[in-house]
Amino acid sequence: MSRTTHIISPTWIAPVLPRDTLLTGHSLVISGDRIEVLLPRDEAVTQFPDSSETRLDQHLLTPGFVNCHGHAAMTLLRGVADDREMMDWLTNWIWPIEGQLVNEQFVYDGTRLAALEMIMGGTTCAADTYFFPEAAARAFSDMHFRAQVGMPVLQFDNAWAHGEEDHIHKGLAFRDRIRNQPLLTTAFAPHAPYSVTDSGFERVRLYSEQLDTPIHLHLHETATEVSDSIRDHGLRPIARMQKLGILSASLQAVHMTQLREDEIVQLASNGVQVVHCPESNMKLASGTCPIAQLLEAGVNVAIGTDGAASNNDLDMIQEARSASMLSKIESGDATRLSANQCLEMMTLGGAKFLGLSDEIGSLEPGKQADLCAVDLSGPTFQPMFNPVSQLIYTATARDVSTVWIAGRQLLSRGQLVEPDSQSIVKAATNWKKQIEGIVSHE
Ligand SMILES: [Zn+2]
Repeated sequence: MSRTTHIISPTWIAPVLPRDTLLTGHSLVISGDRIEVLLPRDEAVTQFPDSSETRLDQHLLTPGFVNCHGHAAMTLLRGVADDREMMDWLTNWIWPIEGQLVNEQFVYDGTRLAALEMIMGGTTCAADTYFFPEAAARAFSDMHFRAQVGMPVLQFDNAWAHGEEDHIHKGLAFRDRIRNQPLLTTAFAPHAPYSVTDSGFERVRLYSEQLDTPIHLHLHETATEVSDSIRDHGLRPIARMQKLGILSASLQAVHMTQLREDEIVQLASNGVQVVHCPESNMKLASGTCPIAQLLEAGVNVAIGTDGAASNNDLDMIQEARSASMLSKIESGDATRLSANQCLEMMTLGGAKFLGLSDEIGSLEPGKQADLCAVDLSGPTFQPMFNPVSQLIYTATARDVSTVWIAGRQLLSRGQLVEPDSQSIVKAATNWKKQIEGIVSHE
């Protein structure tokens, strides 16, 4: 029996592969959850006469964006402690609030709000790390959103687990439970070098190798992290990770500021992948990740927003723009990180980072139909010389119009198809009073 097909006909398509390609007057045909073919519109209509069609005039169709680092539930803490130095922000504000409030419902409500924001901004896949991963997985599933859900590991007690052993035990049980969910994958997520012991890292490495599961780790986020590590371990965090066997192709390294040239070579030769979170790094004054040099050394670099508590949004278009601007100023070279390179990093680069590049990241026949259409009809986009350039340097998440994940349309002309977005927002804003109660006592 043939699957239902649907024709999508935007004005432009940027498929990401082949590189630097822009198709005009073409259609993309979906069959079930996958991309069937891309071809000129008149041929598509002739070849698939029984298909329904979505016409998207003055829209650019791209692969859905892949947000490679975040803490979805922390959208509930958006704006609660702005303009603070990173360790003050974390230890005196975020951790105390989390210590008193975080439970399954908090994570479910916060994650649904984040998924809503990401879908409305064209993001179709995210890497997430937070306590109560089963609640986050349920929220992503209910939203039909693709995600890598982290199994957090910390030496500190929290509402979800007590000590590293308990974290690993609960993480593995969670991994077993969601194994058959097609839109979800998992990764070990040791929090950071300063919050996980050597033996914790050794256990994570062992399980990662046995289960062929990636390790998602905040690494070299700040200069203080590096100097504290030298004080406590006699080694920079990267050297300590190398010693513990963590520096491998399984490592998804988050942030990566304060990098020396020899460390960039070390990352490249070990096949480590990096996710760059420029806005979180700027807001917390953490430092800059030298992505131009990393890319030159052959390291795959993806883009992430980090949690909304340190950004304060989950807008991947603006994040890519910030990455481009920061790379230009950091390298003193305005030709660095072009609009096309940004689009590749936020789609195919992200897909590679998550080990999903056979399934998503570009618009090619056979891949999953994870799609984002951006409306470029407004006056701010005129005159139209280059749609990809307008996407990266002019658009924001609010210009995203229509989104599909695995062939299912989730956003139509800026409106969530289902479920009702108001109920998601209401459940999330109900947490405000409780958060304010804690903050007022700090
Ligand atoms: Zn983070």
